[in-house]
Amino acid sequence: MKRNILFAMDYYPLAIRLDSEMSIVIAFSALLSIALVLFVFVVRQYLLRAKAEKEYAIAQTNFEATNLQLVESEKELNRQFHKINEQKEKLKISRERYRLAVEGAEVGIWDIDMSKREVYISKKGQQIVGFENCTNSFITLEDIKNKILNTDLEEVTEKFHKHLDKESETFEVKCRIHVENDKYSWVNIRGRALHDQEGNAIRIAGSLNNINKEKLVEARINKLAYYDSLTALPNRAYFNQLIEQYIQIKKVEKFALFLVDIDNFKAVNESLGHSYGDEIIIKVAELLKLHLKENTELIRLGGDEFVIVVSHISENAELKDYANQIIEQFGKPFSYKGVSFPITLSMGISTYPMDGLKADELLKHADMALYDVKVNGKNGYKMFSFELDESFNKRLTLERDLRQAILKEEFELYYQPKLDIELGKVLGYEALIRWNHPQKGLIYPLEFIPLAEETGLIIPLGEWVICQSAKQLKEWHIMGHNELTIAINLSAKQFKDVHLVNLFKRIKVETDVDITKLELEITESTALVDMNFAIQVLNDLKRLGLKLSLDDFGTGYSSLNYLTQLPIDHLKIDKSFLNNTIEHKSGEEIIKSVISLAHACKLKVIAEGVETKKQLDFLRGENCDMIQGYYISRPVPTSEALEFICKDYNE
Ligand code: C2E
Ligand code: CA
Ligand code: CA
Repeated sequence: MKRNILFAMDYYPLAIRLDSEMSIVIAFSALLSIALVLFVFVVRQYLLRAKAEKEYAIAQTNFEATNLQLVESEKELNRQFHKINEQKEKLKISRERYRLAVEGAEVGIWDIDMSKREVYISKKGQQIVGFENCTNSFITLEDIKNKILNTDLEEVTEKFHKHLDKESETFEVKCRIHVENDKYSWVNIRGRALHDQEGNAIRIAGSLNNINKEKLVEARINKLAYYDSLTALPNRAYFNQLIEQYIQIKKVEKFALFLVDIDNFKAVNESLGHSYGDEIIIKVAELLKLHLKENTELIRLGGDEFVIVVSHISENAELKDYANQIIEQFGKPFSYKGVSFPITLSMGISTYPMDGLKADELLKHADMALYDVKVNGKNGYKMFSFELDESFNKRLTLERDLRQAILKEEFELYYQPKLDIELGKVLGYEALIRWNHPQKGLIYPLEFIPLAEETGLIIPLGEWVICQSAKQLKEWHIMGHNELTIAINLSAKQFKDVHLVNLFKRIKVETDVDITKLELEITESTALVDMNFAIQVLNDLKRLGLKLSLDDFGTGYSSLNYLTQLPIDHLKIDKSFLNNTIEHKSGEEIIKSVISLAHACKLKVIAEGVETKKQLDFLRGENCDMIQGYYISRPVPTSEALEFICKDYNE
């Protein structure tokens, strides 16, 4: 550029001087412009570079950050990867454990895919169910159903569907499964269902195990709890369950209870011993079993009581026929260890729903009917009716009143004179109890003595009679009638009471009565129930000085054989026996022989129920020792009793 300026001065010397200055300025300006342009260029370049550098720096920083993130992500991935691997390992162990558990467990595992209706059953499960030979472990629901015993199938299906429908927390059922031939196995099946969002069961899985042993133990316990060991018949607990089942579950429309009781069993049991009693119970159970019809169940309620439950009956006539059939099978003598004894039954029948809606009510009503049979001569049956209920309630009231009466001493002794035929004199009395009921008036012994006997109230009542008679006799003796006697009636329960002998010892001391003038009257049946026992007690009483009479002779066994064995003093011929024989000529012969036989046994004979002179004359002719009856007097209160002793009846 410098070379270009020098060149211009060389060619234009003066004029051009001015021009050269101009040129300098121009050149300078040009140079300045050029410099400016250059400067701008340089600055611009610089700025561009600076910007580029800045951008580069930013990019560099971003890149580093991204890189860092990538590294972190990779690390995270690695961590996750390890975790997954660990879990995979755990899952593997768990699966292994599950497989071992399933294979080794005593229980079988099952799983049902509800959509395919396919059933998976573990090997053990297949063993339990009896699918061992099955190659495919997938079995259909139908296969399972076919395995379940028909009788159990309904329950299983019901419980299964209930659980699928979310009506139960778990599915659990005990049922029987066919295993081979006619054999079956008891299994317990448990499970839980899985439901989808709509609430449909998609699968259900669980366990099953063999519970044969459990069931065996249960059966044994059941046998102990629900069966009677003597007869192997079901017992009372079973009865209660059965009736509940009939009413609540099976909803049987009509059924009947036959309450069966062996007649006179107590007496036989006590006199011939419990082993004899047991044999009778076994025999009765066998006979009853023989005559069980369809739809009947025989249960031993306890003691000598059985109940036959007859279901699906339509007519009462049917029941009566059946009752007659049963009664007819009995009545024949039963022999055991050389002793022969006729067994008869009494039955009370009640029907559901007419006579009661619950087991205890039905039983109570059957018992009322049975009671009625018992008091009306036994060996028969009776169907319950609400009139019976009424009489039963009356009996309850009577029992309550009787208890009160004993406490309040509402009783009185009447005395019936006994005439010595030969002397024509009244030498003694029989004490006969009367009840002065505050509302009902005078009540006779036959109306309350049987109930007192049955309820045990006869013990305190009898003690009162004994005490009262002893006091009365003492009073008469003090009055100077030293030879008078009083006869006291003893019931069977009193006779069996272990305190009886001591009671007389005590009375003797307390009243200071001449005990040889007290007589005790026991009936044939009381004495004969247990001869050995009777002989022992009678001897004890006799040693105390008491006199003993056999009452109501002719009504019971009427056997004279035992007369020699019993240490008795008097024989009382029963009034009915006397009446019958006097009416019919042939009967006279019997009376004659009884009197002569009694005399041969050194027993005095008293004829009861003598109402006519004709009867008295006949008896006198036969050398009967004493008479008692309306012909002389009815039983009278104490105040009138002594009137008879002054009379001479032979005049
Ligand atoms: P029993 O021991 O056979 O007493 C005789 C029953 O015959 C009495 O009835 C008496 O009144 C009645 N009698 C007496 N003579 C005649 C007669 O000529 N004709 C008729 N038709 N009957 C006559 P009663 O007093 O009603 O006593 C009934 C039964 O009650 C007694 O029969 C006896 O077994 C029992 N009994 C009475 N008092 C007692 C007692 O204090 N203790 C116990 N354990 N039983 C008693
Ligand atoms: Ca009597
Ligand atoms: Ca009598």
